[in-house]
Amino acid sequence: MPLRNIPLVDLRAQHDLIRDDLETAISEVIDQSAFIRSKPIKQFEETISRMLGIKNCISCGNGTDALHITLKGLGLKPGDEVITTSHSWISTSEAITNTGGKVVFCDTNPDTFTIDPKYIEDLITPNTVGIIPVHLYGHPADMHTINKIASKHSLWVVEDCAQAILAQYKGEYVGTLSNASIFSFYPGKNLGAMGDAGCILTNDTNLAEWCSLYSNHGGKGKHLFEGINSRLDGLQASILNVKISHLSKWTRQRVELADYYNSHLSDIPDIQTPTIGKECNHVYHLYTIKTKFRDQLRDYLKNNNIASSINYPIALPFLPAYKRLNHSPSDFPNTYENQKVILSLPLYPELELEDINRVISTITNFVDLNSK
Ligand SMILES: *Cc1c(COP(=O)(O)O)cnc(C)c1O
Repeated sequence: MPLRNIPLVDLRAQHDLIRDDLETAISEVIDQSAFIRSKPIKQFEETISRMLGIKNCISCGNGTDALHITLKGLGLKPGDEVITTSHSWISTSEAITNTGGKVVFCDTNPDTFTIDPKYIEDLITPNTVGIIPVHLYGHPADMHTINKIASKHSLWVVEDCAQAILAQYKGEYVGTLSNASIFSFYPGKNLGAMGDAGCILTNDTNLAEWCSLYSNHGGKGKHLFEGINSRLDGLQASILNVKISHLSKWTRQRVELADYYNSHLSDIPDIQTPTIGKECNHVYHLYTIKTKFRDQLRDYLKNNNIASSINYPIALPFLPAYKRLNHSPSDFPNTYENQKVILSLPLYPELELEDINRVISTITNFVDLNSK
């Protein structure tokens, strides 16, 4: 009998546990036709604000829009340069270009995969206006050092928290450590909707008001200026309101499973388990190991019906989309080396002990076979 599939993420398992609450919430939205600019949306914004301790939450259509809206609100204009990490999902850099700015990539820390502040200052020019660190995989970027550089050069900082809700840096939540931050509630994120959704958090009330107007055509009825249509809808908000009450527990479960992986994988030769930076709390959106046998291990797992993924197979500067920047591997040596060795293993709150044990024993078998 073939072994049961172990997926990378199992949304069905999560939704089955809270299906009644989800269905009630969805029915209420249908009953009240509360689709746009409705109560569940306000409730979600207030919950996020309260949970993270930030004055303003502006919901919007998705995390990519959240970045675009924020950058526009910060006054990004053609010719402005924004420094961001060479290792992220394309939304981060795409939003800079789509708002009219110029993307300047910065290499990463070889172990934490986040932007390495020690390379930032060399990239600053008279045109630099801001920095976008990404808390990649759920691990906080080195915000203290980044903020120090930003303040020395009068730059803004926007945190991309799409993968890192509830992660902490020196005891403070990510998303509270800069001028503004963005979150994505794409279904597979740690807090996921059943479609696209996102938000912006900021203590800057002027920025918040502008972002709210811009994402709603420059203000309903008023149209003070031309904006865009990027809204969180009532159905997604009502789903998120149900799910957010479970987020702390789910995050704890992710951390426990990651610790379990660590305790069984960290002594295996040629497998490097995730590194945690000083005073950082990782929330493991992804559990990503490094191994020089990456491709062979991925095939071996696949043959044993275990999913894995590479996030991301080609780092941003080397994508066809950035051919115009003419980058070579030596510009980002750490990111370039990492893209060859990273592998994300199945991790989600509902992952069962039996299944995580099977992933671990399959990796152990692979390493035994390879070291003979
Ligand atoms: C998912 C993600 C985004 C954007 O999210 P969408 O909601 O899909 O637009 C931005 N940045 C990072 C790092 C992400 O992982």
